[in-house]
Amino acid sequence: MAVPVIGVLALQGDVREHVAALAGAGTDARPVRRPVELDAVDGLVVPGGESTTISKLVDIFEMRDPIDKRIAGGMPVYGSCAGMIMLATEVLDGRPDQRGFAGIEMTVRRNAFGRQIDSFEAPVVLAGVDGGPFHAVFIRAPWVERVGPEAEVLGRVTDGPAADRIVAVRQGNLLATSFHPELTGDLRLHRHFVDLVRAAS
Ligand code: GLN
Repeated sequence: MAVPVIGVLALQGDVREHVAALAGAGTDARPVRRPVELDAVDGLVVPGGESTTISKLVDIFEMRDPIDKRIAGGMPVYGSCAGMIMLATEVLDGRPDQRGFAGIEMTVRRNAFGRQIDSFEAPVVLAGVDGGPFHAVFIRAPWVERVGPEAEVLGRVTDGPAADRIVAVRQGNLLATSFHPELTGDLRLHRHFVDLVRAAS
């Protein structure tokens, strides 16, 4: 493919920041709200925001089946924060009616870092991403309590009260981080995802 087309699920959350980061990473980046728009993309980002709201809007916009089908067909998806929650097979401290795409076999805990460290920044070393630790921004973020045998842990918090917590995971073409690389101007993670999209097509 010449220029990969990457969609950002644009139902709620920090859509614009991901579109800008993906454009900076050399892709044709666009918001995606409808099934026909999803048909046109090679990969999808599920942004940070509020997973309970995104879950509801996915049903209202009739995007659940189309996204599930594309994931089953191997479309690469990157979820950050609420997007990570949307990719998990199991959510702790969620709302009973929230539902994700269940693509990565992992258990995530919503708002896991607690009140004192509701929002914080910490260095995270990411496997497969060169150039030193990632300056990771966490905002009411989930962490990962368990991963299945197919899922690979890519990164953990390195120090502070949340040291060792898993915050980046990959399973096949699905990538998830607890933090928000779209907010820091460091495009390495978006480039990493673009590589995955290129490799998948
Ligand atoms: N706490 C949010 C949720 O449960 C995630 C926060 C975020 O995406 N910054 O969906």
